[in-house]
Amino acid sequence: MSEILRLAGIVNESITDGPGLRLAVFLQGCPRRCEGCHNPSALDFDGGYDMSDAEILSMVKNNPLLSGVTLTGGEPFCQAERLMPLAKNIKEQALELAIYTGYTFEQVLGSDKMSALAELADIIIDGEFVLAERDISLKFKGSRNQRVIDVAKSLESGKTVLCTSERWI
Ligand code: SF4
Repeated sequence: MSEILRLAGIVNESITDGPGLRLAVFLQGCPRRCEGCHNPSALDFDGGYDMSDAEILSMVKNNPLLSGVTLTGGEPFCQAERLMPLAKNIKEQALELAIYTGYTFEQVLGSDKMSALAELADIIIDGEFVLAERDISLKFKGSRNQRVIDVAKSLESGKTVLCTSERWI
């Protein structure tokens, strides 16, 4: 692997970006400006710092306690093509791959540049953050409009299928 990713940050053993202990990778840059954005410092495409996907994978491989990897941001799908090798390697480690996005799942699947990354994910949490629908009782979502999507079942059935696992909802 030799892709260079633009990051806002990276957290080893996060417990807030999905179930279990997760490596949370915060991708720098987002085209949206949601009111009440949880991570405003991650919005500027010129901000952040570079990290190679090989370094990130090394963190994954060096932590046997991880149950998954979460790509968040910022907007991960703005770096979708560069994230492909890392996502493939994460799947080869038999780790759960979750991706947060401000796009809808349907928008991502309809995009030539984004769909391949989406298809590698186990879980996608989609939709913009809507301050009026903010609900702090939600496990891993910021606002009620966002959806936790079971990607494999969605691809299999040809329609968007919500995750029903208690781990996630
Ligand atoms: S999509 Fe996420 S990162 Fe982007 S502005 Fe909205 S809340 Fe912030």
